[in-house]
Amino acid sequence: SIPLGYFGGIGAASRNGILFKGSNFLDIIANVTTVVMDKTGTLTKGVFKVQDIVPENISKDDFLSILSSVESHSTHPIAKAVSEFHPSDQIPESVEEISGKGIKAVINQQRILAGNTKLLKTFNINYPEFLEEIVETTVVLAIDNEYKGYITISDEVKDDSESAINNLKNNGIKTVMLSGDKDSLTQNIAKKLGIDSAFGGLLPEGKVEKLENLKSNPKEVVAFVGDGINDAPVLALSDVGMAMGGLGSDAAIETADVVIQTDQPSKIATAIKIGKETKKIVY
Ligand code: ADP
Ligand code: MG
Repeated sequence: SIPLGYFGGIGAASRNGILFKGSNFLDIIANVTTVVMDKTGTLTKGVFKVQDIVPENISKDDFLSILSSVESHSTHPIAKAVSEFHPSDQIPESVEEISGKGIKAVINQQRILAGNTKLLKTFNINYPEFLEEIVETTVVLAIDNEYKGYITISDEVKDDSESAINNLKNNGIKTVMLSGDKDSLTQNIAKKLGIDSAFGGLLPEGKVEKLENLKSNPKEVVAFVGDGINDAPVLALSDVGMAMGGLGSDAAIETADVVIQTDQPSKIATAIKIGKETKKIVY
């Protein structure tokens, strides 16, 4: 039988907008030593806004139309920002998402690439070197193997991210941030929030590798907090996987052991506290 204390713990969590999928996770979370977090949608709002538009050898209107029609077929938060900024009725003949890099498509028999510089490198397309120096998130466009310009987009840090990190650190927990977004931007945000270590420019398999490294130390109990489809493998691999319930993709919510229904990163420390208190009652 399950001790009464566990029901109390699950109930207390639920009243705080935290869903535990099993009482065993109250035990595990009580012992967490490291919290690994995704950037976009977990520590930032995940709502991107278009900033600079810099077309190259193409009209601004054609540039935006092509970019938008490609992005309207993606569910990535970056794609949403672009397609809502400049709705387009052009329909691509084919669209393929390339995980961690962007999109490959065909429109009017033109080969379109929209994504980061890794995507352009994959297809051996030359682009100006200064693109690597831009700190903000950028989407680069190429048409028929030719660089055609870029846009920058910005996202905001969530209101309670800084206090969320502080709470974890005050409890002696190590904090790590992983992102598929630019490393320069990832490091900036980590520094601002006081996160112990951060890794950007990661492909989905790179995130798995980082988590495996952390877990290889048997003394570490690792929680991962994320929201994207790409986060499902790391959520499954971690000792306790936590997903953002409002913003999160179905895959992330389904794979997670704990769901933060309010999307607030401060609930990570709340969940750990409830786990610790439940343990005190049970043992
Ligand atoms: P994260 O969720 O950590 O940002 P992703 O793997 O979802 O990681 O994305 C990594 C990077 O791939 C993005 O920062 C972006 O540069 C690029 N990317 C992914 N999907 C798209 C898209 N639909 N349009 C443009 N760029 C994209
Ligand atoms: Mg993501």
